[in-house]
Amino acid sequence: RGSCASDSSDSVISTSSEAESQVYKVVLLGEHGVGKSSLARVFGGVDDAGHDCDETGNTYDRSIVVDEEDASILLYDIWEQDNSQWLKEQCMRMGDAYIIVYSVTDKSSFEKASELRIQLRRARQSENIPIILVGNKSDLVRSREVSVDEGSACAVVFDCKFIETSASLHHNVQDLFEGIVRQIRLRKDSKEE
Ligand code: GDP
Ligand code: MG
Repeated sequence: RGSCASDSSDSVISTSSEAESQVYKVVLLGEHGVGKSSLARVFGGVDDAGHDCDETGNTYDRSIVVDEEDASILLYDIWEQDNSQWLKEQCMRMGDAYIIVYSVTDKSSFEKASELRIQLRRARQSENIPIILVGNKSDLVRSREVSVDEGSACAVVFDCKFIETSASLHHNVQDLFEGIVRQIRLRKDSKEE
């Protein structure tokens, strides 16, 4: 962006500031069917017009304003793209932050989330990466298998944030991504001091 300086003598060559070029890579993890792609579509502003397409994976790019500051997020929904070990390892390495999703209607997906948290810790041992544990499908009250308390207790043990969402109702999805941005900023700030 920039005006074409007619008087070149006092034009300033501006390089884009670091804050402007900052893109946060956020990776979705979690068992099949928990709602990763649904959350990604809500985030990306994609209208899921009722079709349950069997997606193979995708990346969403969006800027959001959090605390009056712009943040660009590259959201990777590629965890299930193929079953290669290479991709899984790549996922564990590439993220600036992670969203580990389970379904509150599926206990085994909750247990899987713990496993993923452990794997992630192992892959990124010395780093203090932001992680949010997400209990999705909170709208399905009658088939709930994991309580809010169990979810938040697990997050305490694993030293990460916790939120329940409903991709279907778009409930808490905005909060989730704002939370991710805040966490990334917090860790960045504490590193710089
Ligand atoms: P993924 O395998 O983790 O990517 O899960 P999907 O996003 O494909 O969702 C799996 C199924 O759960 C689909 O039928 C979605 O419509 C449904 N689903 C996803 N999120 C929610 C939610 O918050 N509430 C309800 N009721 N269904 C959901
Ligand atoms: Mg999916």
